[in-house]
Amino acid sequence: MYSTAFVGHHLNRVAVMGGTHGNELSGVYLVKHWLQDPSELQRRTFTATPFLANPKATERCIRYVNQDLNRSFKKSFLTSKGTQDDLYEVRRAQEINQLFGPRDSADAFDFIFDLHNTTSNMAACLIVDSEKSVFTMHMCHHIQKHIQGPCPIYLLGWPEQEKFALLSVAKNGLGLELGPQPHGVLRADVLSHMKALVACGLDFIDLFNQGTSFPAFDTVAYKVIEPMDFPRSPDGEILGFVHPQLQDKDFLPLKPGDPIFQLFSGEEIFYKGDATIYPAFINEAAYYKKGVAFFKLEKCTFSIPPLEASATSAP
Ligand SMILES: [Zn+2]
Repeated sequence: MYSTAFVGHHLNRVAVMGGTHGNELSGVYLVKHWLQDPSELQRRTFTATPFLANPKATERCIRYVNQDLNRSFKKSFLTSKGTQDDLYEVRRAQEINQLFGPRDSADAFDFIFDLHNTTSNMAACLIVDSEKSVFTMHMCHHIQKHIQGPCPIYLLGWPEQEKFALLSVAKNGLGLELGPQPHGVLRADVLSHMKALVACGLDFIDLFNQGTSFPAFDTVAYKVIEPMDFPRSPDGEILGFVHPQLQDKDFLPLKPGDPIFQLFSGEEIFYKGDATIYPAFINEAAYYKKGVAFFKLEKCTFSIPPLEASATSAP
């Protein structure tokens, strides 16, 4: 089953979200700029809406106030009344779901871009819920053809998993995860790259709205298997760090027997799996407390069906 809800319709309601994590500054400052001057978000067939997703965290330059906003879109949070309303991000997720959703409804926005940075060497990573999101997979293909440098596709693994992220509010969505960049820091190269990626994604929607069809293609994408934690003591203290041979090797093959950690004693820890995997989010600062040293991914090839032009042409 392919997601075809968008076929035959213009995508007029498009949002660009920054500051979902308040210390990931490329998205924060691009969105603040676009709130002042949205001209870069205008296209022939639509104008995208800039939106600062977590203003309280952004103000304090922290990832979140009470809990991770990008994990606050589970059904239990979106429907909770009262008991959890002292949690800022739960309230904020409900507001965002009202403004840009409601999720899975006809009223939901057509597309959300969600802008993130990572301390990992992820290049211009394109985060998609599933390879079955045909429109977004075509957008990724378009971006990979038009943007210089690697733009690996990272599949979150929905719909098998419960939806938890901000992207799930709209009918279609793309997360941009650019790094390496320290949190709380702006780098010119990362900022300009993110701006170019958003522009390319908006161009793609505009082409589709104007009646362009896109042929079928095969593509490589990386699908999340599971997280891998640091070696830890029984009381949770980390006993070592990412091995120098693994540092910065996001999306490169990791074979059984390759080193993954080094203990403070100097001892090396080797990968014990029985197949080659592709790690990503290696040494992401925000994931130490989540128990994640990196995510294990599998490299997959998918055949994506053609994307037919929207039924009505633009004015
Ligand atoms: Zn983030």
